Amino acid sequence: MLRSVVFLLIFWCSTNWVCGQKRSIGLFRASEISKISILPDQGELYWLFNGMIRYSPLADQVITLQADGNKIKVTQQGVSLGYYSKVSCTTDKGGIKVLKPLNPDLPEWAYSGSIFFTAQKGILKIINEVEEVDYLAGVLRGETGKEKSAAFYEAMAIMARTYACYYGNRHKAEGFNLCDQTHCQVYKGHFPYTPWFDAARSTQGLVMKDRDGVCAEAVFHANCGGQTARASAVWKNDIRGCERVLDPFCLNSKGAVWEKRFGKDEFIRKAGITEIEWNTWKSYSDSLSLFCYAGLERPDLLILGDERINPVRWREKFGLRSAWFDVEIVGEEVIFSGRGFGHGVGMCQEGAMEMGRYGCTPEEILEHYFRGMRVVPLDDSMVE
Ligand SMILES: [Zn+2]
Ligand SMILES: [Zn+2]
Repeated sequence: MLRSVVFLLIFWCSTNWVCGQKRSIGLFRASEISKISILPDQGELYWLFNGMIRYSPLADQVITLQADGNKIKVTQQGVSLGYYSKVSCTTDKGGIKVLKPLNPDLPEWAYSGSIFFTAQKGILKIINEVEEVDYLAGVLRGETGKEKSAAFYEAMAIMARTYACYYGNRHKAEGFNLCDQTHCQVYKGHFPYTPWFDAARSTQGLVMKDRDGVCAEAVFHANCGGQTARASAVWKNDIRGCERVLDPFCLNSKGAVWEKRFGKDEFIRKAGITEIEWNTWKSYSDSLSLFCYAGLERPDLLILGDERINPVRWREKFGLRSAWFDVEIVGEEVIFSGRGFGHGVGMCQEGAMEMGRYGCTPEEILEHYFRGMRVVPLDDSMVE
């Protein structure tokens, strides 16, 4: 009995940590920051040095932190306040603070919640502990744009919450849940744009789950070009619910079609082929014009004479917008004509925006792109 109570307690704590109301996000993870300044934007800042020494500077006073080995040198208007191994700051409820990296010199971003700083080998580790609503609004800022329909924002908020639930332990070893980069979801801190907060609040607690009650791996891309891709065609494994789905909604959006041209020399260099192979490929190039505009199905392989070409690898090699394209060799020029923008797996954002404009609900949008998935409360086991 005691053991099961302890187990339930541990289980509750761990799920609450992963999927609860607060998130800890690693900030500025694309850069190695050694010096940063912090200024209160709204509310008073409360500082804690080594977890004990409390300090509240005047409202407009900037604090600068500089990593020095594994310690942080704290200065205020050029006056040293000492060296500490742990520094944190928070504000009154709803308070916002502005973080401006000085070395390297990067744009400033505003954040709500608390910020924790530590240093290792001269680099600052910066973690933002933030309420879920604020985190999701910051992800909508990073992953959508302004002036979209409420249904689209709500679908994206459910996606972002589901993703955070699925990947909540991704950076556990580094001491936070998720990073602020595309590796997890782009999080751009606090910005007072009401529709993002409304979407996070009105979908509170909702996630996408499969029939076994497991949170979906909620991936998305800009435009599928008319059919989404199987995950296994892009990555090593399939993703539950991410089958190929015909999508008429994105066909008139800006990412639906593209073209990219290469001269013969650049093409040979990027493809890693010889002059002899070029001549052979040229003789087969007609067969490469069959995969995109002629068919509805995304190809997993392109056949060029005896060669089998993986379109995903070619997308990387040639920096193409998608892995769904025709190739035509005309004289000394190679023309790629393609459909869609991005990896093509999961939700097609431009299709979802269009569905929102047609009056579809966030549930209808998500269940169109993720087959067999349902939008349900996070604590609903959804056993039918
Ligand atoms: Zn990450
Ligand atoms: Zn689409």
